[in-house]
Amino acid sequence: MQAFERAMRGEQFIAGAWTASDERIDVVDPGLGRAFAAVASASADQCIEAVAAADAAAQAWAATAPRQRAECLRKAFELIMEQADDFARLITLESGKALADSMAEVRYGAEFFRWFSEEACRAYGSHSIAPSGGYRILTSLQPVGVSLLVTPWNFPLAMGTRKIGAALAAGCTVVLKPAKETPLTSLVLAAVLEQAGVPAGVVNVVVTASSSVAVPRMMTDGRVRKLSFTGSTSVGKHLLALASERVLRTSMELGGNAPFIVCADADLDVAVEAAMLAKLRNGGQACTAANRFIVHASVEAEFSARFAQAMESVGVGYGLNPGVGVGALITASEREGMLGLIADADGRGADVACGGKSIDGPGFFLQPTLLRNVTPECRCFVEEIFGPVAPVTTFDTVDEAVALANAVDVGLVSYVMSQNQRLALSIAERLESGMVGVNRGVVSDPAAPFGGWKESGLGREGGHEGLLEYLETKYVAVSW
Ligand code: NAP
Ligand code: MG
Repeated sequence: MQAFERAMRGEQFIAGAWTASDERIDVVDPGLGRAFAAVASASADQCIEAVAAADAAAQAWAATAPRQRAECLRKAFELIMEQADDFARLITLESGKALADSMAEVRYGAEFFRWFSEEACRAYGSHSIAPSGGYRILTSLQPVGVSLLVTPWNFPLAMGTRKIGAALAAGCTVVLKPAKETPLTSLVLAAVLEQAGVPAGVVNVVVTASSSVAVPRMMTDGRVRKLSFTGSTSVGKHLLALASERVLRTSMELGGNAPFIVCADADLDVAVEAAMLAKLRNGGQACTAANRFIVHASVEAEFSARFAQAMESVGVGYGLNPGVGVGALITASEREGMLGLIADADGRGADVACGGKSIDGPGFFLQPTLLRNVTPECRCFVEEIFGPVAPVTTFDTVDEAVALANAVDVGLVSYVMSQNQRLALSIAERLESGMVGVNRGVVSDPAAPFGGWKESGLGREGGHEGLLEYLETKYVAVSW
């Protein structure tokens, strides 16, 4: 509980010390629609102090034994799991999501530390004879250096651990800048890492009300060598352009717009279960959320009827209440956005098969909504939805389904439902996305490479690939 009490004071964590600042940011409980805490807002100068602290700690941390870094991460994994209930409660308070979703996030988020504690000792180089025979080619992997980690509000714990775990395992020091909507979980995480034995300055956390000023300042400071960003495609593009000023290494995990293809031979029990997870996990506020349901015409009526029934049976309400499966949306304006998407589809001839309305607050609640007969021109088919709204359209041939699935600028994840693995895998191969779920609605796993194609981003997080994002290759030509 110590870590929570410390962090709830809402101060910056810089160079191993908790630092106050004059300006405060309210933290809103989306389930109640009002502030329940406040945190200090770091000035751009304080953010630069955090960069300086990470820089000062960089050499010593890079020189620690990989096993030592591994054991810090392993310890942090255990500390998070020991306090899983408290973490889950805090995540629900600041993000509005249902407690079951928060608990799933705690397990997933902590697992990145266990995974990267195992990967910390696996940064291999190579040794070979030059083709000419005249010398030796020696390669090794070295930490890229001070890394700036910028994370979104929808997974306050897991988006942090996924980056910090890899960076620390690789021997990098970091500045984490979480989203201002959900800063408290990151501050507790800082306290946990300190308790796990991570030296001062290796992990710094700054919360700021002016990220559009502070983040560019840090990125162009010269001491920062890497940006790992998770968030919207629009902000990501802007930061990618800025990263060119210092030629920063970048990992960009951006928006999605996942197609969910249901083939004629799909097991509809499996498909509906997967659809519920892919659509309603986190209330639909996930980059991996199924966005476009593309269903074979012969099974669409049956699939939609069962999907609507399942959606209607989910409890919507305050995330901490028992029996709640879908919590609040993050802000009132996000909910307005959802209602706008529903109205747009409705106006273009779609049918509202279930839901469609907001639920009286004070929190930002919306009924899980199924839209049938949605055409590809509808905004909900083009834009990332980020809420519990499921648009359905039909296809007749597999070629049509694949063309429709690929007809967007992003490509994070796709889902394919078919009992014929040959068909499912051949479709998976043709989909322009970094990840595909076959007969399942969740793909995220710390042991697997997570990331997107096209405008969904660059690089991978998790898996062995996640470690490599924080390592530079050194080649030494050796004559003897
Ligand atoms: P966002 O608005 O892009 O914000 C992400 C982060 O960037 C936050 O820390 C935010 O800080 C910061 N930021 C915003 N504007 C900035 C600017 N002009 N300069 C520098 N930093 C800036 O995204 P979000 O609304 O938090 O999250 C939703 C988006 O994240 C969705 O598009 C979703 O698909 C994506 N996402 C992707 C993945 C993935 O792995 N691919 C995972 C989760 C979410 P402040 O808000 O505090 O200003
Ligand atoms: Mg935002």
